[in-house]
Amino acid sequence: MREKMYPEPQPVSAYLCRELECSCGRVHYADIAAVEIGAGAIRTLPEYTKKWGYACPYIVCDDITYKIAGAQCENLLSQVGVYAKLHIIKRLGFDEATLGELLIDMPADCDVIIAVGTGSISDIIRYMSFKLRLPCFTVATGAPMDGFAAGIGVMNVDGLKTTMPAHSTKLIIGDTDILRTAPYRMTAAGFGDLIGKLSCLNDWELARLVTGEHFCGNIAALVKKCVDDILQCADGLKRGEPEVLGRVMEGLVLSGTAISLYGDSRPASGAEHHMSHYWETVFEQRGVRAAMHGEQVAVGTVLILMFCEELARAEIDFDLARAAARSYDRAAWEAEIRRAYGAAADGVIAIEDSACKNETAGRLRRIDAAQEKLPLIREKLNALPGAEHLAKLLRTVGCPCAPAQIGVDEATLKDTFMYCKEIRPRYTVLQLAYDLEVLDSVSDRVIERIKRDSA
Ligand SMILES: [Zn+2]
Ligand SMILES: [Zn+2]
Repeated sequence: MREKMYPEPQPVSAYLCRELECSCGRVHYADIAAVEIGAGAIRTLPEYTKKWGYACPYIVCDDITYKIAGAQCENLLSQVGVYAKLHIIKRLGFDEATLGELLIDMPADCDVIIAVGTGSISDIIRYMSFKLRLPCFTVATGAPMDGFAAGIGVMNVDGLKTTMPAHSTKLIIGDTDILRTAPYRMTAAGFGDLIGKLSCLNDWELARLVTGEHFCGNIAALVKKCVDDILQCADGLKRGEPEVLGRVMEGLVLSGTAISLYGDSRPASGAEHHMSHYWETVFEQRGVRAAMHGEQVAVGTVLILMFCEELARAEIDFDLARAAARSYDRAAWEAEIRRAYGAAADGVIAIEDSACKNETAGRLRRIDAAQEKLPLIREKLNALPGAEHLAKLLRTVGCPCAPAQIGVDEATLKDTFMYCKEIRPRYTVLQLAYDLEVLDSVSDRVIERIKRDSA
């Protein structure tokens, strides 16, 4: 039986495993059976495992998450006569090699995989179990990002951070007694990932205006609520209040659920995430350990909000933009991508080969639409929260808010503005600026502003 999609945002349990017919024309469905958030939530693990009839779980953790919750999962299960095979990941890459390591140790009769950890472990397990057609659970040991509930997984493939088809986790456990023991930095990063929804929702609205992309107002409102809730409790987070921690976890799960409901990451990932993916890619090649995902997204969000402020003020010369579209030089573009992406360039060029975002015909169409909608676009950009205000909030929480804090130098920052949009086919405010031939000048203005602020 189909129900109607809720016009007002609801708690996460209202969205699980039910077909919701929406006024946007789609039926939304999140393939997550249960979410348990709260003190002692880990004790529900054996109950669900037994209830769903799993007898041969494969628990995957690393040596840190083993101590935090992996051993406890193993014990709790054995107390009810379920003997799990436990694997402690040796490799760090979350790439093809790690996937191989996990497969080799997996028991042949495994019927459920339990990821114990945060983002990367959850992502690789959701991908692997999806490919093996096995269900998976996630026991969170920190709340640093919103990937737990998402129906996609990010992995390193051929040296490039790649969004892979995956499924949602069947059970999510966010035990606040465990989350409290996570390094505070992780929780602050979770806050950062949620802040990013402000800029990605703006990208989605711009796409709706300019390219006519499908848009769901109900899901957008749901994601908006996740951010609004969290903006209220920055002080409580710093004080380590368990209730606030639970709210961050709930916000992250809800935002991930929105990705599942919509069927792709559009509602929760935009230009701020493209920046983060770009930094991951270049840092990996430089052999530098990148900052946490949520920290990068927080910095990306502040940068994108500054960019939106400058773009709203920018003088747009539509004739110049059209001339640039007509003289698009694919070879020159490719040379720049090879310089900016290094070893990962082939994957990025392949994305453009199928998306054709920069080709003349599509760009001219988008310039026409942007010209027609310019007043509305400016209105949207001006309605965003101020970058300064957000940076202040991030400082209160103790999350990085400036590129230098996460090791991004000025040259990398310029490349980020110019080329991070190429890492995904998705339309964002950076594509809008590129189309209008102001990407270069507006990003220079943002970079100048950052230099002034830090002087
Ligand atoms: Zn994220
Ligand atoms: Zn909808």
